[in-house]
Amino acid sequence: MRVLVVGAGVAGLACARGLVRAGHEVEVYERAPALRTAGGSVTLWSGSTGILRDLGAGLSGIGRRIDAMESRRHDGRRLFTVDVAAAARRFGTPAVHVPRQRLVERLAEGLPSGVLRFGQACAGVDPDAGVVRLADGREVRGDVVVGADGRSSAVRDRLWGADPARPTGWVTWQGFVRGPADLVSSHLALMIIGREGLCGLIPAGDGLLLWWFDHRIGGGDPPASPARALAARFGGWAAPVPEILAAIGDVDRFAHYRHRVPKVWGRGRATLAGDAAHSMPPTLAQGANQALEDAWALVRELTGDGPVEDRLRRYERVRSRTAGRVAALAAVESTDRYPVQAMTRLVPDALLTATNTRWLRRASTYLRSSGPVPEKGAVRRP
Ligand SMILES: Cc1cc2nc3c(=O)[nH]c(=O)nc-3n(C[C@H](O)[C@H](O)[C@H](O)COP(=O)(O)OP(=O)(O)OC[C@H]3O[C@@H](n4cnc5c(N)ncnc54)[C@H](O)[C@@H]3O)c2cc1C
Repeated sequence: MRVLVVGAGVAGLACARGLVRAGHEVEVYERAPALRTAGGSVTLWSGSTGILRDLGAGLSGIGRRIDAMESRRHDGRRLFTVDVAAAARRFGTPAVHVPRQRLVERLAEGLPSGVLRFGQACAGVDPDAGVVRLADGREVRGDVVVGADGRSSAVRDRLWGADPARPTGWVTWQGFVRGPADLVSSHLALMIIGREGLCGLIPAGDGLLLWWFDHRIGGGDPPASPARALAARFGGWAAPVPEILAAIGDVDRFAHYRHRVPKVWGRGRATLAGDAAHSMPPTLAQGANQALEDAWALVRELTGDGPVEDRLRRYERVRSRTAGRVAALAAVESTDRYPVQAMTRLVPDALLTATNTRWLRRASTYLRSSGPVPEKGAVRRP
């Protein structure tokens, strides 16, 4: 089968990798002139590290294993600790936090030459004919078109009409620092909450610690100096927040978007994967995970039998259920409910650990129907 993928982000690269391994002919059309390696780092839960292993893109040597998630109040008081390693023991694969750059490079490693086609933007698709129209006027035809072109997807615009995503009113500021040493060398994700918003700190490997601050945006333009604005908002919080604020260098900003995830994503021979189908705020650290889940499920469906259109709609039905559930929960900006969050100190850690393990399974089509990505010629379905 000839599959045309639009976009070489996490979703597009994972689709390409799985489809090539399953023996399909794949071309990926990416608008940028090279792999887009910008961004912070992403947490990949047990389902995703299993998918990456099955795609032959395991994370050995990169990122940092995460064994625990601790939540604290702004004044330093511990609220709860979730044993993330319990999920690793249950599912056989760990949670790993990894720079987005390292992840996309690992996914692209070893793809046959000619698969990745950079500097070739998609301007539109004909879903019934399986045609991708490129910005330079050329048309390419395949058996399947996968729109993996992110939040502002051109393929989705053709399939759904106007961009459905709306801002939630929250923003993330993020970057890397190289300390404090005890956090950089830990396997701990630290989340600190207060009325002002949320601070997250998590080791990413390579001696890096990702920091982020989430808060509700007031009106007006973004501040001229984000570091100063963050210090003004969060400077009164307990250690280690002041130390992080003092070390801030480059700062990325991204606003949070959400939309309801429909049951049907595509039409004819065209479908969607990743943010193109389900933009969600980063609150549950699920954007990259759901993109990998899509790729895994799509490869399995395309390696099955039956008319292509039926297989694509089946893939969408399977994935929209899970991605829709995750997107709906991610859209709840939990620090809007700070007093309720602060009550979590009354819940036993063991109960929160069990809830987290159950949730990770509910959020993963892969964990609920495990089995390796098919090799050439093999037929398996989720
Ligand atoms: C540069 C960058 C930095 C990011 N940083 C972070 C981060 O720090 N933290 C975080 O949680 N998430 C980040 N994200 C988003 C995160 O990667 C996604 O939420 C998640 O991995 C799902 O990936 P995706 O492949 O669906 O979308 P994306 O990762 O957005 O990939 C979409 C790809 O499609 C390409 N594309 C777009 N339009 C076209 C077109 N018309 N024709 C051809 N190609 C097109 C884009 O150039 C991009 O390479 C970032 C995304 C990008 C692109």
